[in-house]
Amino acid sequence: VIVEGRSLEAPLRLRTHTVVVGSGSGGAVVARTLAEAGTDVIVLEEGGRFTAADFSQREEEMFPALYRSAAQQLTDDGLVNVLQGSCFGGSTVVNTADCVPIPAAVLAHWSRHFGVSLDEEELEASRARVFAALRVNRIPRGQLNANNALVLEAGARIGLATGSFDHNRVGCLGSGYCLIGCAYDAKLGANLTYLPAAAAAGAQLYTDLRAERIERRVGGRLAIHGSVLARATRSARFPFVVLAERAVLAAGAVHTPALLLRSGLGRGLPALGRNLSLQPQLPVVAGFDDGRRIELWRGIPQSAFASAADDDAEHGLGGFHLEGINGALANAAALLPGFGHAHKQRMSRFAAQASALLLVPDRPSGSVGYAFRAGGETVPRIRYRMQREWQARLRAGMRRAAELYFEAGAARVGFTSDLFPDLEGPDQLDRIERFPIVPGATRFISAHPQGSCRMGPDARASVVDSDHRVHGLSNLYVVDASVMPTSAATHTMIPIMTLADRAARRMLEGGGAAGRASRRRGD
Ligand SMILES: Cc1cc2nc3c(=O)[nH]c(=O)nc-3n(C[C@H](O)[C@H](O)[C@H](O)COP(=O)(O)OP(=O)(O)OC[C@H]3O[C@@H](n4cnc5c(N)ncnc54)[C@H](O)[C@@H]3O)c2cc1C
Ligand code: SF4
Repeated sequence: VIVEGRSLEAPLRLRTHTVVVGSGSGGAVVARTLAEAGTDVIVLEEGGRFTAADFSQREEEMFPALYRSAAQQLTDDGLVNVLQGSCFGGSTVVNTADCVPIPAAVLAHWSRHFGVSLDEEELEASRARVFAALRVNRIPRGQLNANNALVLEAGARIGLATGSFDHNRVGCLGSGYCLIGCAYDAKLGANLTYLPAAAAAGAQLYTDLRAERIERRVGGRLAIHGSVLARATRSARFPFVVLAERAVLAAGAVHTPALLLRSGLGRGLPALGRNLSLQPQLPVVAGFDDGRRIELWRGIPQSAFASAADDDAEHGLGGFHLEGINGALANAAALLPGFGHAHKQRMSRFAAQASALLLVPDRPSGSVGYAFRAGGETVPRIRYRMQREWQARLRAGMRRAAELYFEAGAARVGFTSDLFPDLEGPDQLDRIERFPIVPGATRFISAHPQGSCRMGPDARASVVDSDHRVHGLSNLYVVDASVMPTSAATHTMIPIMTLADRAARRMLEGGGAAGRASRRRGD
């Protein structure tokens, strides 16, 4: 059953065995896996449900509808825009569908330095199930658009490791609108895979319902309190409560810690809200004056990469990934440097422009704090400080990115800073050493917030154990991007889904299957 909050007219009181908060990568996988094993499951999703017919391909409609804070969720200094989907299916509805498993070196690092015990074979089985559910396949060479083909070809010529991604698209028409929802049901996010399967297996999925507080009742049962929301404003219409034997938090790395803190469950967990990684990405923009039209808005937005590994990197944190990208036109215009006439000129040459995102894996150096408003709204404060060591690695990656584009014949290469004039040839590469990382003038994006409920064996340094259980609470779990001990050093959907598949199976081994009789409306 899928119930949209707008169809509800009166306060709600529900019972279930397992309540899952959040319907994105983590929540959707847990919901389906448990429901198919016979567990009574209720999913609470704060955002609305949208289907192919709703995806209008208009940025001014889709960014507010599908994203947290209309895709303008900034760090406290304004330097990084932290993008998160907030709708039925979470970030899987708006992501670019690149499917990359957790690198083996990262897993080894988590085990060695954070005492996280994740069996490789068990994880591989989970990864395989996730790939099958999402129908993951390799993007055919013929479906690379000119913008991505350029990264692949010029990257290989300058000695970078290159390739095209695996993706979870089937029947893709190359419309280029992945970031604002696929109107053709070709991108197989959780909204089209795990969530309908969970509903078919008996789970009840509620949209427009925001979980706000977890109460521990006598006997250990949990009560999740929250509000049924008005979709357009997200203001509270009336309250709901769900009584459950078990709760699984999957509200994403920014909002899961908020639920624990607001519920007074942060005591004794000093790592809660800390160790945030953002993997900030710096847009790279190249202009061509040789008459070619790249038209980067056509085709699959992000399909090829050029990467460099750092031989000294112990766990994948070295090196960089450069990935072709189409960031949606208005969104791109807001990121690009320049003002007034200069900006207009830049946009008038947009068809002859190539663009990529430079991803340099980071070490955890951020945190999330909150203002809790009356009416149930939570306003996060994301703090993130870029370490010097990371800045040096970023500049090394910027240099290689600029070399790649000059090799491809670009007349100029720039980055999203108003204080950094475009490079006009390889002889100017040294200027990158003085690239200004200045809030207000330089703009990064992050599509990968992680780590705010780090996994580990010790409650003094982590929030959940290797089975995703919150330390000290036997029936409360976190299964989303927040459990990553450090950055996954790559795209995060498959890593999270893989961990979620494993976590749900562990829950079942622990005796999670509860009788369907326990589900009923009312108390
Ligand atoms: C623009 C973009 C592009 C990306 N591209 C890729 C890519 O190509 N490949 C890849 O692997 N990864 C990509 N990612 C990252 C990946 O999609 C996310 O890391 C992943 O989906 C996060 O999973 P999650 O379960 O932590 O949270 P999400 O998938 O973000 O889901 C969390 C859900 O919880 C809901 N929620 C939050 N608070 C509450 C509450 N209090 N009550 C009820 N519900 C709540 C939110 O509304 C949201 O729907 C991209 C992300 C973005 C934003
Ligand atoms: S590029 Fe493909 S997957 Fe993306 S929105 Fe268009 S048809 Fe859908």
